[in-house]
Amino acid sequence: MEDELPGGYWDAAGQLHRTFELSPLTGYDEELLAGVDGAALVSTVLSRCVRRLGTISPVPAEVAEDLLVADRLYLLLRLRRATFGDAVNASLICPWPECGRRISLAFSVDDVPVVRSASPAATYTVALGDPCVGEAEFRLPTGADQEALADEVDRNEARALTGLLTRCLLRLGTVHSPASEQITALPSATRAEIERRMHDVAPRVEQTLETTCPECGRALIAPFDIHRFLFGDLRTDARLLYQEVHYLAFHYHWSERDVLDMPRDRRRVYIDAIAETIGAMNDGT
Ligand SMILES: [Zn+2]
Repeated sequence: MEDELPGGYWDAAGQLHRTFELSPLTGYDEELLAGVDGAALVSTVLSRCVRRLGTISPVPAEVAEDLLVADRLYLLLRLRRATFGDAVNASLICPWPECGRRISLAFSVDDVPVVRSASPAATYTVALGDPCVGEAEFRLPTGADQEALADEVDRNEARALTGLLTRCLLRLGTVHSPASEQITALPSATRAEIERRMHDVAPRVEQTLETTCPECGRALIAPFDIHRFLFGDLRTDARLLYQEVHYLAFHYHWSERDVLDMPRDRRRVYIDAIAETIGAMNDGT
């Protein structure tokens, strides 16, 4: 199955890689992801599961790290669909105070709104209102930026934002790679202009869904944290994974490693085959 990233990856030679092929998570990936929440693991798993990106194959972890934030989310969504199917169930409290009831929502992975880049580019420029600065040139934030700033986001969000601008701003007027002091010194209106333009040209995978409460019928916006959904599914299934490994190793005499290298669908096919055989033996057929 071939698909296209909402943004795309620009290699060092200036070539855009946008189409990709994916293979579902194997038991080994499930085990890896279920253990830790780290953003770094996302790069490892993406490099294992994205079989091809444009003309890049295999995809090194450093390339997975340098993918745009939205492209990584999109790949995680596709990976979730390839591994667990497209149905998503979420349980939440209706935010309307008069209702406040616990509701469960069912939707499809394909309902998650994706905004694709109309004109993908390696860098963008923005003309600023301040004539002293003129214009700014920037690139869009990547997984590597997120990983580098993850701790700072928890400690001080404003400083993390300055850190992000420092990493992504390539030029401010005639100054190349401006230092964080120069960015902190920018008037807030100028900074807002840069941030707005960044937002406008970036591809997006929305992490909210507009829906209606089945209890009170009112419109609500449900948060949909893609990482948490994928990792949540994996955690719930971690115990089941080991039961499946045990079951297949026991019946087929395969090693744990062999079983973990299979995607979930293949494991299920073998488990069904064993169940059928056992059923047939019990029926005497
Ligand atoms: Zn409600």
